[in-house]
Amino acid sequence: MSAEPLSVVPPAPGPDAALAGAASRAGVAAAASVAGAAASAELSLNNIEVIYDHVILVLKGVSLQVPTGRIVALLGANGAGKTTTLKAISNLLRAERGNVTKGTIEYRGKRIDKLSPNQLVKMGVCQVMEGRHCFAHLTVEENLLTGAFTRNGSRGELRTELERVYHYFPRLKQRRTSLAGYTSGGEQQMTAVGRALMARPSMILLDEPSMGLAPQIVEEIFSIVRDLNRKESVSFLLAEQNTMIALRFADYGYILENGRVVMDGAAADLGRNEDVKEFYLGLSTAGRKSFREVKHYRRRKRWLA
Ligand code: ATP
Repeated sequence: MSAEPLSVVPPAPGPDAALAGAASRAGVAAAASVAGAAASAELSLNNIEVIYDHVILVLKGVSLQVPTGRIVALLGANGAGKTTTLKAISNLLRAERGNVTKGTIEYRGKRIDKLSPNQLVKMGVCQVMEGRHCFAHLTVEENLLTGAFTRNGSRGELRTELERVYHYFPRLKQRRTSLAGYTSGGEQQMTAVGRALMARPSMILLDEPSMGLAPQIVEEIFSIVRDLNRKESVSFLLAEQNTMIALRFADYGYILENGRVVMDGAAADLGRNEDVKEFYLGLSTAGRKSFREVKHYRRRKRWLA
């Protein structure tokens, strides 16, 4: 039942012989696909390593690309390194004593590793953090307006931007005068995405939009993400534990395990892959199986077989 990995990015050299063997088998194909994607990539991470507190190695050579105008999902279990990857891109690691110690990060062909988060926002890259993080004591509309602080727009332009956000999030228009702290989790998530939109980004790094929300609301938020992608040409790098929904809405996906990309491919192909179905969607040809039932080393072996 073992399925062929779609492509496997070679891991960093280490003592694990199984990983090294798999890397050499898949290396040529992976390098070719990565090189091809990099040519048209809006965002490109090349072999990045992240260390917290000078000793905790969390990302171990992550490479990924987000082509212009696409939705790319970054998938993986709790603690796999998804948030760390997004924070490495938006340069938010330093606040947590984290550092990118190897590799490069490029946006539209330019190195961005040394830029501050606000410089990145001006370039068009915005992050929506995990857990929504609205200003609880401000109204929904005031929260949205804070997203436009990097732009020197007139009142009229701000009003136009607000109407654009309300067009995609009609619920926010109804709740515009409510204090954000008193709105629902879904409305706060919408406010957080809407606030990012106010900066007119060309790319949004969206961390766990589904976290703690009811399935119907998650569906609504993902539909809006797709609308923004199609109608406003905003590219998304989407970190999600909810593999099922992320693969339905994304064009392409990367699966992270223990700080390494263990598999990547078109979202539709990943959704059909037996290992992904078994370990991340809770489905297999032999029936439902729990992710926890399978030991980590066995899973890893199967990814790389
Ligand atoms: P989740 O969905 O739970 O946020 P994740 O895939 O986003 O998981 P990260 O939050 O990136 O994973 O964490 C990856 C690893 O890095 C975890 O083992 C975590 O404990 C560790 N880590 C995260 N932040 C720090 C920090 N500030 N200092 C030390 N270790 C950290």
